[in-house]
Amino acid sequence: MVRICMIGTGYVGLVSGACFADFGHSVTCVDIDQARIEELGRGEIPIYEPGLKDVVTRNVQSERLGFTTRLDDAVRDAQVVFIAVGTPALPDGATDLKYVFDAARDLAGHLSGYTVVVQKSTAPVGTARRVAGVIAEGKPGDAEFDIASNPEFLREGSAVGDFMRPDRVVVGAETDRARETMEQVYRPLYLLETPIVSTSLESAEMIKYASNAFLATKISFINEMARICELTGATVDEVARGMGLDGRIGKKFLHAGIGYGGSCLPKDVSSLIHAAGERGYDATLIRAAHRINHELVDRALEKLSRGLGGLSGKAVALLGLAFKPNTDDLREAPALRIVHELLKAGARVKVYDPVAMENFRRAMKAPVEFGKSAYETAEGADALVLVTEWNEFRQLDFERLKKLMRGNVFVDCRNVYSPDRLEKTGFKYESFGRGKA
Ligand code: NAD
Repeated sequence: MVRICMIGTGYVGLVSGACFADFGHSVTCVDIDQARIEELGRGEIPIYEPGLKDVVTRNVQSERLGFTTRLDDAVRDAQVVFIAVGTPALPDGATDLKYVFDAARDLAGHLSGYTVVVQKSTAPVGTARRVAGVIAEGKPGDAEFDIASNPEFLREGSAVGDFMRPDRVVVGAETDRARETMEQVYRPLYLLETPIVSTSLESAEMIKYASNAFLATKISFINEMARICELTGATVDEVARGMGLDGRIGKKFLHAGIGYGGSCLPKDVSSLIHAAGERGYDATLIRAAHRINHELVDRALEKLSRGLGGLSGKAVALLGLAFKPNTDDLREAPALRIVHELLKAGARVKVYDPVAMENFRRAMKAPVEFGKSAYETAEGADALVLVTEWNEFRQLDFERLKKLMRGNVFVDCRNVYSPDRLEKTGFKYESFGRGKA
């Protein structure tokens, strides 16, 4: 059993903390957000993440997991302190490291004995070493520590499963003592024969950025192919299947549509471009991936406008707000930009999402209406736009929708439906990359 302090109880901190407790460790999760800690204390889970409530409840009951705003006790008692706070993007694409350095400064004074401090937040290459510098300055003279970098690869929507059975665990460290401690932390995964990739601090940090930049590029690649399919008469779904079966390419992340969003890919790609630029290198490929992704919202709006003959005065119903299904996370969700642009163009907008409506209300003080279901949202609309492929939007009853709607335009931003099927229902259907010869 390892005594762990997890600083930050967001998507990563809360999932990691709860799962480490499930591994048998004793975990105290700390957050500066008092309301969040109170919620957790009442047994409420502040984020939507399937399966997380069970893991949290089970481990709180067995007293392996606790929540507090008091950093001092939590750090003093810990053998391993994880920093899992947010690292958002600044307007120029650089990473805002304020929360990481604040946490490092705050924790330093409470260290005692020997502690491994682990940088889990995604942060540019060199950050872990800078965090070590901050801690060395602020720690009590007799406290010893090592720094480690342990980037996280979980995906929102399947975070618990991803954490419990990762493809690999990456640990950057500089001493055997730190590596051995991290081995104890991840012991249950060693027993499952999970590959543990042991690297330098810098390589661990870069593995996270390189992985996300690669995934972003793969998504933008298939979206570029979708565009060329539309121009040439090929169908991107068929092309993706034919490509993906090649073992060298792989099937995943070859789904054309409106592109990637969320709290990771966009900001991590921007951060990597920025880091390269600062050192005089223009990261051409990654910048192109970023640009292609950005343009996809414009393309969705063009398709909508074409179908409707202009946007001004039109009633548009949006199905899905979260950046992907099974999460309530709206950070960098395409829906935000779509709504913004529609309102700017003079359209009326009604939105519906099974779990992200409350976050949307908070994030965007926009004059939109909120629906109660897909059908109620579609009532009287000129067009329907499917933005997030929640399961409940995968089997829509188009006969019913046609009767409820005023118009018949349907823009499917996730290629959920087939053009043949939709055309038979009388809808003017637009999707991505399904060209007509
Ligand atoms: P988040 O915004 O959901 O949560 C961050 C939490 O840290 C908040 O609750 C905030 O109150 C807390 N916090 C900030 N400063 C603090 C401090 N000094 N002390 C205690 N708590 C503090 O962020 P997230 O989505 O969990 O992401 C955390 C990190 O993990 C980021 O670097 C992100 O890039 C990375 N990451 C995220 C995901 C993901 O799917 N969300 C996946 C992999 C990696």
